[in-house]
Amino acid sequence: MAERDSAPGGGAPLVAFLTGAGISTDSGIPDYRGPQGVWRKDPEAEKLVTYDHYMTDPDVRRRSWLMRGESPVWRARPNAAHEAVARLEAAGVPVRVITQNVDGLHQAAGVPARKVLELHGNARSVVCTECGARSTMADALERVAAGEEDPDCLACGGILKSATVMFGQALDPKVLGEAMAVARACEIFYAVGTSLQVQPAASLAGLAAEHGAQLVVVNAEPTPYDALADEVVRDPIGTALPRLLARHMTA
Ligand SMILES: [Zn+2]
Repeated sequence: MAERDSAPGGGAPLVAFLTGAGISTDSGIPDYRGPQGVWRKDPEAEKLVTYDHYMTDPDVRRRSWLMRGESPVWRARPNAAHEAVARLEAAGVPVRVITQNVDGLHQAAGVPARKVLELHGNARSVVCTECGARSTMADALERVAAGEEDPDCLACGGILKSATVMFGQALDPKVLGEAMAVARACEIFYAVGTSLQVQPAASLAGLAAEHGAQLVVVNAEPTPYDALADEVVRDPIGTALPRLLARHMTA
C-alpha cells in the first residue's frame, strides 16, 4: 500500500467525499453544469454562465440575474445523503467534503464550513470582478427585484457576478490544492453523484487511489474511475449513502 500523509487533525482515518450534482437532485436541484447538464445542452443557457459572454454582454448579465432569482437553490433543503455525511462528522469521524456543487447544502446539513471545499464556489455570495469585494446574493437579488437589471459593485462600480466558477474560469488554486491534499491523505474516498468526467475534479479520485485510499464510487451511471474503484454502488444515493456510512459509525 502506498504511504499516506497523516490525516489532518490526528490519527483517526480521514474519510473524504467528492460530491457532484447527483447528491443534490433529491433536493430539487437539477444537474446544471455536468457534461449532460442543463447548461451544456442549451447553448443560450450556457452563455449566461460563460465568463467572456458575461463580462462583455450586458444582456447576458441581465438574463443571468433573472435566472439567479429563480434558482431552485434558494428553496432547497439538504436530503438524506447530505444528512448522512453531516451525521458522520458529528459522530467525531474526521471528514472532509470536496464538492462540485455551489448550493451550500452540505453546510446547511451541519458540516462545518471549514470542512467543505467548494471547487466551483458558492452561489450564495457575489463577487466584484473589478475589486474582488464580496457581498451576499440575497442583497444583490433585492436590488434586482427593486428594478436594477445589472447591479454593479457598490464600492467601485465594477461588474458583479455570483461567487461561482463560470465556464472559462480556472478553479481557485488554493481550494484545488487543499482538495489534492485531502485526496492524498484520506483513508477512504467516496465519489458521490459525480460522473467523474470533468477535470481536474475527477482526477482527485485517481489521486486518492494512487495514495492508497479505498475508492468508493456511488453514482447511477458508469464513470471512468469505476475500474479503479474498490466498490461501485449504483443504488439511489439517498438510500445508498446512509447505508454505506453506517459502517464507519459502528467502530
Ligand atoms: Zn468592486
